[in-house]
Amino acid sequence: MKQEIIDLVFPNPLPTPEELETKYPVRNLLQGAQVTRIAPSPTGMMHVGTVYGALIDERLAHQSGGVFMLRLEDTDQKREVKEAVDLILRVFNDCQILNDEGPVFGREEQGNYGPYFQSARKEIYHAFVKKLLQEDKAYLCFCNEEENARLHDMQAKANVRGGYYGAFAKCRKLTEDEILENLKAGKSFVVRFKSMGHYSQKIVLSDVVRGKREFPQNDLDVVIMKGDGLPTYHFAHAVDDHLMRTTTVVRGDEWLSTWPLHAQLFEALGWDMPKYIHTATIQKIDEKGNRRKLSKRLDPEANAMSFSENGYPRTALIEYLLNLANSNFEDWRRANPNAPYQDFPFSAKKLGTSGALFDFVKLDSISRDIIGRMSAEEVYNETLAWCEKYDADFAVVMKENADYMKQILDIERSGVKKVRKDITKWSDVKKESLFFFDNQFTQSKESILEQLKSLSINDINDIVDVFNKLYDINDEKDAWFEKVKQVAQKVGFTCDMKAYKANPEAFKGNVSDVATVLRVFITGRTQSPDLYAIMKVMGKERISKRLTRI
Ligand code: GLU
Repeated sequence: MKQEIIDLVFPNPLPTPEELETKYPVRNLLQGAQVTRIAPSPTGMMHVGTVYGALIDERLAHQSGGVFMLRLEDTDQKREVKEAVDLILRVFNDCQILNDEGPVFGREEQGNYGPYFQSARKEIYHAFVKKLLQEDKAYLCFCNEEENARLHDMQAKANVRGGYYGAFAKCRKLTEDEILENLKAGKSFVVRFKSMGHYSQKIVLSDVVRGKREFPQNDLDVVIMKGDGLPTYHFAHAVDDHLMRTTTVVRGDEWLSTWPLHAQLFEALGWDMPKYIHTATIQKIDEKGNRRKLSKRLDPEANAMSFSENGYPRTALIEYLLNLANSNFEDWRRANPNAPYQDFPFSAKKLGTSGALFDFVKLDSISRDIIGRMSAEEVYNETLAWCEKYDADFAVVMKENADYMKQILDIERSGVKKVRKDITKWSDVKKESLFFFDNQFTQSKESILEQLKSLSINDINDIVDVFNKLYDINDEKDAWFEKVKQVAQKVGFTCDMKAYKANPEAFKGNVSDVATVLRVFITGRTQSPDLYAIMKVMGKERISKRLTRI
């Protein structure tokens, strides 16, 4: 293409491709080290799929002694970028997905391969657009929106494949004089890639997880530089991932169909392609029973922030996503209950290729296990930090009763074989602890009777009276249980559960009913962690206040 045209398109000096290759040299890393990047478009929301991709990137990079970058695809200038980036960094920090390069949480931008915001890389893209124009591998297109819409309608009516290609690529045929005329008349333009592909021919590409895949070649002359001078995703992907020396591109499988185009761009620019992993999208079964992609608009769980807001521990989402990514994570976790998740040998090869279903039951169970592995002190600190953000009133209660709260949280925790599993999220701590506080605990005769429906009021009162006489807060657990049995016998309930089950009609009740009576009086519910431990923590005074006849 004529130099005159190129000078009109790029009137200002640009770095040369050679200068850029020198400025961003091949990285000096150990063999096998992977350089990965997550490249979100900053929007007001962080999709859980982005966290999934970032986690895979982070694991691949850090497990191999490589580098993990955050690059912002902010070429859609209409959006509010600063807040969106803060949000991304906050989620990364919450989840402990720590990037080495790009904007980092609480620090200046890091790394020698920046800028990491695409909007600040205009000159770099222009250097390569210019090169493609010079080599006749790209051309200017002056078609406006109206013309493009007309083309689209015409193709739809004629029932032919849509797009700017072959005979439909009008501006590909412009003469240099016509181009100059248009430029001089101030007509706006985009730059299109001059595809040399044939749709009827095939290209085979290889994905790390999916293996070899055959596609039709790309023959579309796609836009590589928009009217505002910024690149499209396709072009920016090639330029950035080449110059940032990305070794492995991990991205959603919605990019599979444009992969042949990307292969052509790399070839036209004279570069080797990185390796690719196209990840399956996270899906859900909706109310109508249909399987679909998690939707930003419809599904609260699509929002990565919602998990910490709802009180899941920071690693719950990560361990859940690791379990989605590598199904052997669960077995590994069982065998290594106390190891940091970073010790898990993550494998790209084990990633699934069909959409994984988001499953709250699984997330909750992973979360309960994570909390179950923590000490009471850790649970206290994490819960307090969460309450300070989301439940200020309970935060005050926690701080004013710190020792008592820690004892409550230690029930069925340290030194037991089976740790309590009643806390899934930090928000459950309040629910599971409020009854320990007298000013939060009210209980009517009606609610007691409702919960103890199968027993008579006389028996209930007798149980309370007899237990009150026998109870000694200093009793060890065995002695305590012996006393519960004594109560049963004294009120005419059986301690022989086998006999009871064989013929329940023959008895007024059994020893377990006695424990339930005590539990309902003391906790206000029929289910709770270990009653003996609860009574110890509550102390003599509270217990005798609660154990009064109705
Ligand atoms: N901004 C693109 C996206 O959010 C990035 C895709 C990629 O990782 O290359 O889908």
